[in-house]
Amino acid sequence: MRNHAQLVIIGAGIVGCSAAYELTKLGWKDIVVIDRGPLYETGGSTSHAPGITFGTNPSRLMQKMAYYTTQLYRELSFEDEPVWYPVGTIEVATIDARMRELWRKHGHNGAYDVESHIISPEEVQDRVPMIDPGVLKGGLFRPSDGNVKAWQAAGALALKAISTGGAEFYGQTKAIDIELNEGRIRAVLTDKGRLECEQVLLCTNIWGSVLADRLGVTLPMMACAHHYAMTEPLPELADETSWISQPPCAIRIAPCISASGITVGAMALIDTSRAWSAPMMWGATRTIVGAMSILWAPSRMPISCFPVYADGNM
Ligand SMILES: Cc1cc2nc3c(=O)[nH]c(=O)nc-3n(C[C@H](O)[C@H](O)[C@H](O)COP(=O)(O)OP(=O)(O)OC[C@H]3O[C@@H](n4cnc5c(N)ncnc54)[C@H](O)[C@@H]3O)c2cc1C
Repeated sequence: MRNHAQLVIIGAGIVGCSAAYELTKLGWKDIVVIDRGPLYETGGSTSHAPGITFGTNPSRLMQKMAYYTTQLYRELSFEDEPVWYPVGTIEVATIDARMRELWRKHGHNGAYDVESHIISPEEVQDRVPMIDPGVLKGGLFRPSDGNVKAWQAAGALALKAISTGGAEFYGQTKAIDIELNEGRIRAVLTDKGRLECEQVLLCTNIWGSVLADRLGVTLPMMACAHHYAMTEPLPELADETSWISQPPCAIRIAPCISASGITVGAMALIDTSRAWSAPMMWGATRTIVGAMSILWAPSRMPISCFPVYADGNM
């Protein structure tokens, strides 16, 4: 490994790889990216995300970023396979309050020039035949959303950054500390040696505080955990064209990518050490039963159910 760089990016998840890609595109030349895991399936959150990309957000900036991201992903491939699948998304509502929320989101989309359609329960079923239209109030369909193979997208961005000659990536390299001199960064200390640098970009996700705390910097980050149930592959989904979700139940139907099954999860701010506690398991069970009640395929329901943390530990 080199022993000097202008900028060291710590973390090669989607954020670190995107940063390297964008900076090299702007002409940066001397970047080293390190990750403690193997490249590019590092074991961080990016390696575990099913990869739904939503284009709706009340913030115009976030909406523009989501649009930019999906346009960028469209052009990427990794190991000769596309990383982006423009399958669209459908959010469904089973209660009036949720339906009103979908209309609000539809309004945001209109204001920000993102195509979306409020569709009837029957139109939802046309696109996702295994859904029970009888329990739905309707859905919000956004054709421009899609599904990304997350770590492959990170890898594709990394390879583009590398191809400019402006960035080098090193896996299996853990940052242990950051060396300061008179308040300025001097080096990143890794388990492979000292890496002198002028700047550091910390892209270590929920592990950010581990290094930031050593510098006396408080990062406003909080870890979440969610339960995660997945079915075996369902042939009914082989030809599906849409992802579907019902926040907060977050039912996800995954076509195109490796597991053509259903995953169900719900986010919660919890003490992660209690993820297997009785109230949490009861909450998870309710989520799963609630989610499954809108689908026609109860016969092959969950083959596994487990809590997932940002590093994918279960
Ligand atoms: C189960 C699950 C489902 C999700 N589903 C979706 C979804 O459908 N859509 C969506 O948009 N988002 C989803 N997310 C969220 C999304 O995955 C994350 O927001 C995103 O991947 C974060 O990227 P990151 O680069 O910040 O973090 P990470 O991918 O976690 O990358 C951080 C990297 O830092 C490295 N690192 C940490 N400490 C060190 C150190 N000391 N030295 C060197 N390297 C270090 C880690 O190895 C890791 O590779 C999901 C997440 C999970 C866990």
